[in-house]
Amino acid sequence: MAARRISSLLSRAVYASSSIGPASLLLSRGRGSVRGNGIKKFSTAAATEELIIPPVQISYTKHLINGQFVDAASGKTFPAHDPRSGEVIAHVAEGDAEDINRAVSAARKAFDEGPWPKMSPYERSRILLRFADLVEKHSDELAALETWNNGKPYEQAAKSELPLFVRLFHYYAGWADKIHGLTVPADGDHHVQTLHEPIGVAGQIIPWNFPLIMFAWKVGPALACGNTIVLKTAEQTPLTALYVAKLFHEAGLPPGVLNVVSGYGPTAGAALASHMDVDKLAFTGSTDTGKIVLELAARSNLKPVTLELGGKSPFIVCEDGDIDKAVELAHFALFFNQGQCCCAGSRTFVHERVYDEFLEKSKKRALRRVVGDPFKKGVEQGPQIDEEQFQKVLRYIRSGIDSNATLECGGGRLGNKGYFVEPTVFSDVKDDMLIAQDEIFGPVQSILKFKDIDEVIKRANATRYGLAAGVFTKNINTANTLTRALRAGTVWVNCFDVFDAAIPFGGYKMSGIGREKGIYSLNNYLQVKAVVTPLKNPAWL
Ligand code: ADP
Repeated sequence: MAARRISSLLSRAVYASSSIGPASLLLSRGRGSVRGNGIKKFSTAAATEELIIPPVQISYTKHLINGQFVDAASGKTFPAHDPRSGEVIAHVAEGDAEDINRAVSAARKAFDEGPWPKMSPYERSRILLRFADLVEKHSDELAALETWNNGKPYEQAAKSELPLFVRLFHYYAGWADKIHGLTVPADGDHHVQTLHEPIGVAGQIIPWNFPLIMFAWKVGPALACGNTIVLKTAEQTPLTALYVAKLFHEAGLPPGVLNVVSGYGPTAGAALASHMDVDKLAFTGSTDTGKIVLELAARSNLKPVTLELGGKSPFIVCEDGDIDKAVELAHFALFFNQGQCCCAGSRTFVHERVYDEFLEKSKKRALRRVVGDPFKKGVEQGPQIDEEQFQKVLRYIRSGIDSNATLECGGGRLGNKGYFVEPTVFSDVKDDMLIAQDEIFGPVQSILKFKDIDEVIKRANATRYGLAAGVFTKNINTANTLTRALRAGTVWVNCFDVFDAAIPFGGYKMSGIGREKGIYSLNNYLQVKAVVTPLKNPAWL
């Protein structure tokens, strides 16, 4: 296992100058590079301040099964990378069917024989709270590890994602002792009650774009309801889940309740989805893989499945609002997290009356976007996650150009190391172009023109996806009309990407099945049992 302090990594950091002393934890000034339009976009002035990085060490690279870190059954490992450079930062146990078997047996035993499902809900709640406190204590280190392995801006990880992670576990700790059934008025002859019981062993497969947040969305409700878990992380980002799973055990979680297996989708992921002893499956990822896991679940033991999949969310800018604010919000809706959000506002529909001004300002905003080393203060955009995604994004940009959309800015790679993509804006985008239909998952904004509300409703809904939508208007009638007409699981009005723990999230159409977060997430992890007792003992008893 390659445990390394980030300080040593930073002395070789891609876009930091070489003035870092060996013991220094400071990132220093980056070298800006000037590209087209005379705009300095890479490590720009806004990003030259130094940022102290907390010391972070990669300590956990093995599977966590039954409370112990263990090697893969096969002894194999796979590399985890730093997307700033593509360098290997750790070798992680590579799970396959045998590791999943071992993890499922541990989770099964912990469910059938262990204390967790039978523990008083108050005790469960206290363990979740203790865990949240521990994460809060280690949050600088966790944010640094998340950035190191994922490439997202450190400030985003530290200031929004870690606090949201903690909030999610506080929220689910609050639910643990408030989950109960009903007394049902039945036929007058029977006392009928419902028991809300945990389902059993939950299999959870998560993606790489928000490794910690996805962990929290899935693990929080499953544990609050008393289930046990086998979680498979994405092969690109295995590190932070292992770290927090370790903290969970420090907080008093019994062994076997939460097992974390690293590995690839078609091996470890498929083994989990098709396992006969897994009682429920929750998946977040692409729509294509969602179809595969749904089929695996159906063909094995018909386990219930929740899916949170792709999106092609419309962001609708009406003619009545403040254009500067609309530009900023639409920019955020698309470019946040390097554009690697399933709900990204990736079709920016703009009313024809304000289209030209909006376009000009959006282009300027994209050119001002600060791209660079995600550990540097002021950096808004880090690298894409890996070579595969990076190439995919560049292919979509090529397809936009080939289909005669107008490339307003960007369109290429930044630097010559790592997976940095120029913030890219296309105008004159038509509904049937690939860039308006497919999920690009990168920093590529497509701007489309519309004339009236009826037209934009039809066009916004003309997609196989239905995860989210954004509406920008001051007019309450327009807002009401759009929020009701858009076929999407979330509609953000004059805001975007608001993700509180209590707000349900999930998709219409091919964006998924079911809802996560909020009260709605609990049903995914509960069985309802009806218990029927005669009000009077029958004569024969
Ligand atoms: P992406 O294409 O963005 O990597 P995926 O949907 O392929 O998204 O991956 C999301 C998660 O699904 C990851 O944890 C990945 O390992 C897993 N996965 C990929 N293929 C399969 C599969 N055939 N069966 C089960 N899980 C899979």
